[in-house]
Amino acid sequence: MEISQSRVLVTGGGKGIGNFIANGLLQKAARVIIVDQDEQLINDLAEHENLVKYHCDVTDFSAVERLVEQIFEKDGGVNVCINNAGIIHSEPLVNLLSRQEKKHSITNWQRVIDVNLNAVFYVTSNVAEKMILKKQKGLVINISSIAAQGNAGQSAYAASKAAVEALTKTWSKELGMFKIRCACIAPGFFDTPSTQQSLSENMLSKWQKLVPVARLGKMEELLSAVEFIIENEYFNGKVLALDGGLSI
Ligand code: NAP
Repeated sequence: MEISQSRVLVTGGGKGIGNFIANGLLQKAARVIIVDQDEQLINDLAEHENLVKYHCDVTDFSAVERLVEQIFEKDGGVNVCINNAGIIHSEPLVNLLSRQEKKHSITNWQRVIDVNLNAVFYVTSNVAEKMILKKQKGLVINISSIAAQGNAGQSAYAASKAAVEALTKTWSKELGMFKIRCACIAPGFFDTPSTQQSLSENMLSKWQKLVPVARLGKMEELLSAVEFIIENEYFNGKVLALDGGLSI
């Protein structure tokens, strides 16, 4: 698909990786629709003639259904859906050092699965239905993580991302006949505010030493991966590991 023809929905596009991708595509795409849950954050984003902004909690199925209806009936729809909204959460299965509950919190487990997995299903099922009924070509890009391979201390996060990779493969098989591709990007450690927040400096420098190219990934490298997937119509059902070789 030509990027100039793309009309792109980015969930969690209010900040971080999603915002960088949305802003990058805004320079080249026909339309970018940013969805994020924080109304103030959405209102504060700079206006652009090709930008449409919505605040929506993508874990709320009915809200997602209404949002997608509006996007397709009022905003001309989208042909690229980037499922980026996510939360990074670290917690061991059993924490012997905890004085109170030692088991992984069930609330935290459900919250991570809700945002990182259920919301991807809610958004994609609604968007794919519209694409199919309107007989239009499309693309779904899911943002996974290197943690999908399994990461100690990240049960919920790793499980949610592994499931997203399984959905990518499943949907590429199901939706191919409708000319809808589905692909995935699995970033390693990127230089983002959320990475700085979730990892101590010590942990960050340890991880960097394990990366064969010995540095964090840059947002520009994620944007170029998204552009590659949009343009290359033979890339389908696969996970593009963008991790500097860390997963080898
Ligand atoms: P981020 O800076 O926290 O941005 C994520 C955005 O999604 C935030 O604006 C967040 O809003 C929003 N969001 C969260 N839950 C939502 C919901 N229910 N409905 C709508 N919006 C919601 O995170 P990031 O680092 O850019 O990560 C983006 C994606 O990349 C995630 O899927 C993450 O797992 C993946 N990833 C990141 C890295 C990395 O190095 N950063 C590495 C591997 C994978 P709030 O701030 O209000 O929660």
